[in-house]
Amino acid sequence: MEQLNENIDSAEITGINCMSTSETKLLESVAKLFLQRTRINCTDCHYCLPCPSGVSIPDCFDYYNKAYIYDDIPAEKFRYHLGLQESERASQCTRCGTCEPKCPQQIPIMDELKKVSELFDK
Ligand code: SF4
Ligand code: SF4
Repeated sequence: MEQLNENIDSAEITGINCMSTSETKLLESVAKLFLQRTRINCTDCHYCLPCPSGVSIPDCFDYYNKAYIYDDIPAEKFRYHLGLQESERASQCTRCGTCEPKCPQQIPIMDELKKVSELFDK
């Protein structure tokens, strides 16, 4: 109920054309920059889960993307090791193939996890 009320309050102060042209342009330029730097187009929908090996697929991709978005691989590697148990990391993927057909973004999850593992697990 609390979230519903927050949503209603938010909806009441927003609407079509509520932002100025400069605000819209700023938002678009930031969004463009984020998209340019995003390596894996994961939407964090979790449809690929659960992974039988326990890999936290969207989290692995999130750390990987942030490493390039913020241009700071060491910091994101630190967060990856802090935030994920070893059993949840990309290195645990056995390439069983269960996840890929479930991904609406058609991400080649196994190959992308390999890149994540090469960047963070070595
Ligand atoms: S391919 Fe890898 S990440 Fe995907 S379900 Fe199998 S073990 Fe998990
Ligand atoms: S199903 Fe695809 S888009 Fe969704 S969380 Fe998994 S990898 Fe990301």
